[in-house]
Amino acid sequence: MLKQEHLLIDGKLVPAASGRVFETINPATEDVLGTAADAGVEDLDAAIGAARRAFDTGTWATDPAFRATCIRQLRDALVEAAEELRATTVAEVGAPVMLTYGAHQEGPVADLGWAADLAESYEWVTDLGESEVMGIKSRRYTRRQPAGVVGAITPWNFPHQINLAKLGPALAAGCTVVLKAAPDTPWCATALGQLIAEKTDIPPGVVNVITSQDHAIGAMLSTDPRVDLVSFTGSTSTGRAVMRSAADTLKKVFLELGGKSAFIALDDDKLGEAMGFAGFSGIVHAGQGCALTTRVLLPRSRFDEGVETLAATLEALGAGDPADPGTVCGPVISARQRDRIEGFLTRAREAGATFVTGGKRADRDKGFFIEPTLVVGVDNTAEIAREEVFGPVLTAIPYDSVDHAVEIANDSDYGLSGAVYGADVQRAQDIAARLRTGTVGVNGGLWYGADVPFGGFKQSGIGREMGVAGFEEYTEIQSVAVPAGS
Ligand code: NAD
Repeated sequence: MLKQEHLLIDGKLVPAASGRVFETINPATEDVLGTAADAGVEDLDAAIGAARRAFDTGTWATDPAFRATCIRQLRDALVEAAEELRATTVAEVGAPVMLTYGAHQEGPVADLGWAADLAESYEWVTDLGESEVMGIKSRRYTRRQPAGVVGAITPWNFPHQINLAKLGPALAAGCTVVLKAAPDTPWCATALGQLIAEKTDIPPGVVNVITSQDHAIGAMLSTDPRVDLVSFTGSTSTGRAVMRSAADTLKKVFLELGGKSAFIALDDDKLGEAMGFAGFSGIVHAGQGCALTTRVLLPRSRFDEGVETLAATLEALGAGDPADPGTVCGPVISARQRDRIEGFLTRAREAGATFVTGGKRADRDKGFFIEPTLVVGVDNTAEIAREEVFGPVLTAIPYDSVDHAVEIANDSDYGLSGAVYGADVQRAQDIAARLRTGTVGVNGGLWYGADVPFGGFKQSGIGREMGVAGFEEYTEIQSVAVPAGS
């Protein structure tokens, strides 16, 4: 049975030192599910101290085989707890249950196996051969070392995916971690802490899990001198704050931030198919995905036709109960988030936009539901086309030529993801190569995977999560030279 009101600090499941708790809410029903420990400064201090000790003493940082064993234990414990965890994920996150079989739960759990394998197979040492500098002949090599204590700060939209995509590679690399979960989804993190404490041999202090309703706890994690690296996923504005507060101690910062990604539908006989895909992939999980393609670019001559098919797709999907296996678009996480989305819609209307479909709360008694919405009548300069709405809201924009489409797609402060869809796959890939984004899906291809680096250009972030590149973010390079021949 998953317990809910504890932190994991130095191997022990403990309440907040203050005894304080805070409520976690079901976004589909507005019911209070229960409470979580509300960590304060004292708890964070203890967690960072434990992570520091676990890194500096003991063998965690130097024993990849043991780390691989522990990561697999965690994966297996998460698999064993899958149904209880699924219920928590649907209730707390409002995650459509169908997605818990993929990116919302089972995918990232399985990906821990990839991280464990990498801990074992990774070539920690790279031979650079011999060289002679100023008459001194040396044999050189590089050795990858773990970066140290990681402060991992995560958002609420895909809690398991993001918590585990940080934890798996950081542990595989030999780091120790203080994980600070988002205030809206504490129980997803609490479950992780409990399973680590009860079902794995991960030594005390190697992973510490903190839940708190106070955002300042995240800020403290990014200033504390005992933390070597901050791995942050969240909004671009908070990312800036993290980078600023990490500057005093010159921590490595690794940032996965927001996006406003474009979907380019080419002018050919795949346009209808493209709009079916764009509708699904734009509003899945109520649009609460940083990499969702929320700007749909259509050839001007076929704009009305594309918009009609896209609107029909959104209407067919609708917004529904996340526990229903057919639901693609559930609730948004909170009343605060719903109000924020409604603010965007009001301002878009005032700026002359029209809603082909949606544009308001879904007709349900309870829960934070917004109807899947299609906005037209604005160009790429409008707020609704530039800012991350983080709701089930797509903006369709006409383009005049492929060059124009690429120009619109790249005309964004963000550079996280994108999509191109057309009859000629090679042509679509050539267009994809012109996008200034960290990932691109062509004709429905899915780039998501444990071995695929994910991250953003421009203000969508710094660094890559997942893949070997993501693992290496949690390492430092030590270059070594010894006399040649020795
Ligand atoms: P957020 O930025 O408000 O919060 C994220 C986390 O940062 C939370 O744990 C929060 O408590 C903490 N935090 C808040 N203020 C802080 C501060 N000053 N210093 C340190 N930590 C602080 O984001 P959110 O609303 O929880 O999540 C939604 C955002 O996350 C969206 O913008 C979305 O695009 C982004 N996101 C990005 C990715 C990605 O990989 N690029 C993935 C998922 C979500």
